[in-house]
Amino acid sequence: MSFAQGILKGKSAIVTGGATGIGAFIVRKLGALGANVGIVSRKEENLVAAVKGFKESDGIDVAWRTGDVRDPEGIKKAFDQLAGDIGGIDILVCNAAGNFICPTEDLSWNGWRTVIEIDLNGTFNCCQAALMHLKAATDGGRIISISTTQADFGWPGAAHAGAAKSGIQNLMKTLAAEWGGYGIRANWISPGPIEGTEGVDRLIIQQGLSDEVLKRVPLGTFGQGEDISNAVVYLSSDTGRYVSGAGLVVDGGSQWARGR
Ligand code: NAP
Repeated sequence: MSFAQGILKGKSAIVTGGATGIGAFIVRKLGALGANVGIVSRKEENLVAAVKGFKESDGIDVAWRTGDVRDPEGIKKAFDQLAGDIGGIDILVCNAAGNFICPTEDLSWNGWRTVIEIDLNGTFNCCQAALMHLKAATDGGRIISISTTQADFGWPGAAHAGAAKSGIQNLMKTLAAEWGGYGIRANWISPGPIEGTEGVDRLIIQQGLSDEVLKRVPLGTFGQGEDISNAVVYLSSDTGRYVSGAGLVVDGGSQWARGR
């Protein structure tokens, strides 16, 4: 699938967790379609290596700042600086997340709290930090949060992440209602299992669950990073201008095949 060349020209986008996995696919696509892109996450070495890769393999200049989405003041500072580098913030992609598998009866308070703080509180912090810039976006700011199909079901072994992602989806609905008056659209994407990512490697392949998971994907394969980045482009360009408070499921149909 391809979008018109330069469809995002003149737009500025921040992608949290944009150095790795799905975030990096999103950065590549937004940059290839003309957006100025900035990325934020905790590890400088990841950011520096990713920016070098974006330049060498895609010819894209990407700005970066370190920042922890759990730290509201730090993330505001990083966003303000990045906005200076890339010319504002028209598009915010809340992609940063943490997760690990643990049965709920063994889940420590610290484990629960950490995932809620990164995923849910971190998304809240990023939306607030970007608000001033999103309000100034010429064609209406866009917030796109990366959720998961698991947020709509129970998620045995990941109560923390399931609760956080459900919370994110509700936050997007509320922001669509509250910030629509500023022209801001707030939506989320629910990916199924995406090949070549930390999520699939650690939570599915290393757990020996590949066959079991693929049995429940009607289209028969893991998704590709591009499947998610294409959805981001749809929601962040003029094509998605009347979509707000909505979730876009990109999972090969697996949410409807859970009983298989
Ligand atoms: P990933 O490569 O591990 O990406 C997570 C990113 O978040 C990393 O770049 C990490 O960078 C950053 N991050 C983590 N904690 C942070 C913090 N406190 N502050 C700032 N940045 C932080 O994982 P992924 O599999 O691509 O997942 C990306 C998103 O897609 C997540 O929201 C995930 O829930 C969602 N998702 C993935 C799949 C899948 O199949 N992979 C399926 C459904 C949903 P640093 O370590 O440098 O901070």
